[in-house]
Amino acid sequence: MNKSTTTHGIILARHDSGDTDRVVTILTKDLGKISAIAKGVKKLSSKKAGHLEVGNVIEFELTPGKTLFMVGAAKTVAYHKFLQIENMRQLFVWLEILNTLVHAEEKDTALFDIARRGLDGAERYRRDQLQVVWPEIALYNHLGYQLELGQCVVGREPLAATQNYLQVRLGGVVCASHAGQETGLSAISSTAIKLFRLVKEGRWDIIPKLTINEDIVREMTELVATWRDEVVGHRLKSERF
Ligand SMILES: [Zn+2]
Repeated sequence: MNKSTTTHGIILARHDSGDTDRVVTILTKDLGKISAIAKGVKKLSSKKAGHLEVGNVIEFELTPGKTLFMVGAAKTVAYHKFLQIENMRQLFVWLEILNTLVHAEEKDTALFDIARRGLDGAERYRRDQLQVVWPEIALYNHLGYQLELGQCVVGREPLAATQNYLQVRLGGVVCASHAGQETGLSAISSTAIKLFRLVKEGRWDIIPKLTINEDIVREMTELVATWRDEVVGHRLKSERF
C-alpha cells in the first residue's frame, strides 16, 4: 500500500510522541493491527483529538509514512458512554487482550467483528450477565486456542455428563477419574461445557434467548478468566484497575 486508504478501526491504545503528536495502536478492518502517528492532536485546535480516544470505533484516512502510518481525517462511528466503572474496566481488559494477542498488519475481518462485539458487551456489561464472556471465548477460538470439549484430554474417552474439570494448560476438559493426577483443575459443569460448545460452533444467535442462572454466570466468568491467564500468558494490567 502506498497511497491513502479509508477504513474503520478500533483505538486499542495511544501514547504521546513529542509535544504535539500521538502514536495510536488501531485494530483496523482492512489492514489488521497497526501503529499510526496522529500529527498535532495534542494542540487545542485539533479536530481529530476527540475521535482518537481509546475504545472508539472510527472511520479514518490512513497514509503510509516512512516508518509509521499517518492518521488523516477521522470521525467517530461509535463511542462508549460508560455510567459504571465496571463497564470501563471491562472495556480496558478487552482492549488489552486484543492488543496483546492480535498480530500486527494481518487483515482479519472476522476478528474485527468479534472485537466490536466485545466493545458492545463491555458497554452493556452487568455482573449477572455474560455479555463479555461470549466474544472473549469466540476470540480465543478464532485465534486457535480452542478447548477440547468432547472428550477427556487425558484418557481420550467421551465425557460423561457428570462433574468434569477444565485444565487449560492441557487444552480442555479432564474427566473425574483422570483428574486425580492433574493440578490446576477448575470444576466445570455440563451446562458450562454446552455453553462453551455453542460459541465454538458459532451459534451466537441463540445465546441471548437463554436463561442462565447466577451460578453458571459466576462459573463461566471464572473459567474464562482462567483461560485468559493461560492464553495471554500473564496477568493483564487492566484487570487490576
Ligand atoms: Zn478421562
